[in-house]
Amino acid sequence: MNATDFPAGAPDATDDLDAAFPFDLPPLVEGDPVDVVILGAGVNGAGLFRDLCAQGVNCLIVDRGDFGGGASAAGSRLIEGGLAELEIGDLAGARQAASERNRLLKNAPHFVDMLPVVFPVFSWLGGLGAALATLLGTPTAPRQRGAILARLGLALHDRIAAAPVDTPRHQLLSRQAAGAAFPELASGIAAAGLYQDARITAPERLVYEMVKDGLDACPASRAANWTRLVSCFGGSLSFESEDSTDFAVRPTLVVNAAGPWIDEVNAALGAPEAQVAGRRQSHILLDHEALRRQLDGRVLRFEMAGDGRVLTAQDYLGRVLVGATDAPTDNPDEARCPDEDIAALLDALRTVLPDLEFTADQVVCTYARTVPATAPDEATGQTPRPGGPIPIIEADADRPFPILSLVGGRFTTYRQFAETATDTILQRLQRSRVQSTEHLAIGGGRNYPGNPLARSVWLAEASVATWLDEPRLETLLERYGTTALSIAHHICDHVDADRLPDSRSVSLREIDWIARNEDVVRLEDIVLRRLNLGVAGLFTSRDIEAIAIVAASALKWSPERRAAEIEAVTTLLRDTRRMRV
Ligand SMILES: Cc1cc2nc3c(=O)[nH]c(=O)nc-3n(C[C@H](O)[C@H](O)[C@H](O)COP(=O)(O)OP(=O)(O)OC[C@H]3O[C@@H](n4cnc5c(N)ncnc54)[C@H](O)[C@@H]3O)c2cc1C
Repeated sequence: MNATDFPAGAPDATDDLDAAFPFDLPPLVEGDPVDVVILGAGVNGAGLFRDLCAQGVNCLIVDRGDFGGGASAAGSRLIEGGLAELEIGDLAGARQAASERNRLLKNAPHFVDMLPVVFPVFSWLGGLGAALATLLGTPTAPRQRGAILARLGLALHDRIAAAPVDTPRHQLLSRQAAGAAFPELASGIAAAGLYQDARITAPERLVYEMVKDGLDACPASRAANWTRLVSCFGGSLSFESEDSTDFAVRPTLVVNAAGPWIDEVNAALGAPEAQVAGRRQSHILLDHEALRRQLDGRVLRFEMAGDGRVLTAQDYLGRVLVGATDAPTDNPDEARCPDEDIAALLDALRTVLPDLEFTADQVVCTYARTVPATAPDEATGQTPRPGGPIPIIEADADRPFPILSLVGGRFTTYRQFAETATDTILQRLQRSRVQSTEHLAIGGGRNYPGNPLARSVWLAEASVATWLDEPRLETLLERYGTTALSIAHHICDHVDADRLPDSRSVSLREIDWIARNEDVVRLEDIVLRRLNLGVAGLFTSRDIEAIAIVAASALKWSPERRAAEIEAVTTLLRDTRRMRV
C-alpha cells in the first residue's frame, strides 16, 4: 500500500487528536528530583514501580526496550499456586505462591483465571525415593512422578491452595477414567491427576498496566521505554531515548530490575557482581486442531522423558502453546528457539500422546528467552531462592547511591517480591508505607464485572453508552478488561466495521486508540505486547501493514519510518519467532 492508501476508517494525519506524548506527561528535565530509578520494566520492575508510586515515592522507570518485552513476555503463561514449590519441599514458598495466585485472580480478573490441569503419570511408586530425599533436605524435584506421589502432592496442594470457593478439589483418575477424559493419552499411563490452577492470558499487557497504574498514583513519577542508560558518573545517570532526547537524573537509590541483564547493568553502574545464572527456555506454538480439541480448555502437564522436567501444553488463542525446554546459557540476549529445542518439545509430545502426529511443519511460531535465575553464592556455593532476599550493593565514594537487585521473581509472586523491596526502600528513604497492594486491582481489572449478572449489566450499560453491540463489547472486555470502555468510546465515534484484513476481531479504531494512548514507540509494541494475538503468530503480513498504517497516522511517522517499522517487525517475527510471514 502507498502512504495515502489508508484503509477505510483509519484516521489520517489530519485527525484532530494529537499524537500523545507517552502518558501525557511533560518530559523529564535535567535535575528533576527522583528518589528511585528502576532500570528494567519487566514484571518485577513494573511491580515495584507501582508499589512505590502507591506510597507517593517519586520514581523513574526506564527500559531499554518496551515495557514487559524481556523474560516477562516469554513465560509459560501459568500462575501456579504452589505445586512447583511443594515438589522441592518448600512449604512456605508454596503457601506464598498460593495466596499470591489467589490475589492475582482478584486483582487481575481480566487476564488471570482458573482452569483444569491434567497430569498423567506412568507408574504408581515413581518419585517416592526422591520425595523422601526432598523431605530430608535435598532441594531437587523428583523425576518420573508416580500416582502415589501425585495423590499426596495434589492433596497437599488442595490444603494449602485455599482456591476460590467454587474450585473443585483434585482427583486421581484411574487409567480407564483418564483414557475416557483424554483418549489420546499414551496407553501406558498408570493414572492421571486432575486439579485446578491459574493461567495468565496477557502478561505483556499486565506489565504495561502496572506501569500506567504507577503513573496514575504518583503524577511526579515518570516511565520511559526504548530508553538507553548512556552513562553513570558522579551520582548522575544519563539516558537517551529512541528519538535521541537525552536527560539525566541524580537518584537517591537505584533498583536493578533488568532480569537476565542484571549483571550487565550492575557493570554499567560501576558495580560488577555476578548475581544471575541464566537458563535459555523455549516455547513453541502449534497449529494442531486435534491436540487443541483433545485439550478442550485444559492444561496438559507432562514430563520431559529422561530429565523429569515438567512441560505444559495449553490452548492459547486457538494455537497450542508448549514449553519449556531448559538449557544453561551465559547469553542474556538469546531469543531464538533453536531446532534442537523444537525437536525436544515435539518428542516429548509424541511420548505422552503417541497416536497424534507431531511435525515441525505444525510449529507456526516460537519464543525463547533467558530466564533470570539466581547465581550461586560465591562464598557458600548455595543458590539463593529466586525472589528471596534482595541483594544490595552499598554506595561508595564514586557512586553515592546504593543498588538493589531484583533477581528471579516470578509472575505469580511478583507482588510480594515488590512489597519486600518497597519496604526496604521506604526504610532507607525514612518513609512509611501508606497503602498495601494486596487488594489493589490492576489496570483493566478495576471494577471488573466478575460474575454473570455483573457482566450482563456492564455489557448492557456499555452498549447504551457506546452504541457497540454486546458481542463486540464482550470481545473488548476479554481483551482489555474494563479499559474496554475507553476503547469502545473511541471506536463508537467512527466505523467499527473497518477491521484488520485477516484478524477480523481487531478494528482499526482499536489500533488507533492503542497507538495514541498506550505509549507505543515501535510497531512491535502493538504487534507483540499491547495485543496478545501477535504472540500466537496470528497477525498476517497484511494485518501488520494495516496496523502500521494506523500507527503511522496516529504517531505521525513518515512513510520511510512506517516502511522501516514494517521491515523491522517482519524480520523480528521471521528470524526470532520463526514465523512464516
Ligand atoms: C520460559 C519461561 C517460562 C516461565 N514461566 C513462568 C510461569 O509460567 N509463571 C511465572 O510466574 N513465571 C514464569 N517464568 C518466570 C518469569 O516470567 C520471569 O522470571 C520474570 O518474568 C522475570 O521478570 P523480570 O522483570 O525480572 O525480568 P524481565 O522481564 O526480563 O525484565 C527485565 C527488563 O530489563 C530491561 N533491561 C535490560 N537491560 C537494561 C538496561 N541496561 N537498562 C534498562 N532496562 C534494561 C529489559 O529490556 C527487560 O524488559 C518463566 C520464564 C521463562 C523465560
